[in-house]
Amino acid sequence: MFGMLSPILKNGLGKPATRLYPFEKREAFDKARGQLEIDIDKCIFCGMCQRKCPSTCLSVEKAACKWELNPYNCIICGVCVEACPTKCLSLNKVYRTPVYVKENQIKIGKPPVKKTATKENS
Ligand code: SF4
Ligand code: SF4
Repeated sequence: MFGMLSPILKNGLGKPATRLYPFEKREAFDKARGQLEIDIDKCIFCGMCQRKCPSTCLSVEKAACKWELNPYNCIICGVCVEACPTKCLSLNKVYRTPVYVKENQIKIGKPPVKKTATKENS
């Protein structure tokens, strides 16, 4: 009888063994990959990310300065992040929340500034 008292008190008065999700959320691990993000101001619309993406969820239109991601097909592999020449892509640690309607993420940027040739030693 007394042998059972200890675990009963421990279970009744102690902290719960699990988190009270969604009120109590666990912090993401250091190298956790959540969602793909773009700093559209740095994008030069080269299309490298689109060409390298293994799940074909990226589309880039250079003429319209448009970058589009289907986040629900993205497998968070990070290939586009490594391939981007201007390092404007990154994977954050925020996990996607459930939605009723799956919409693409569209970003419109500005045309990249063309470098002009400078006269040297003239
Ligand atoms: S690889 Fe980078 S710079 Fe090129 S289109 Fe994709 S996001 Fe933009
Ligand atoms: S993280 Fe991988 S799957 Fe997602 S857009 Fe980039 S290359 Fe495609």
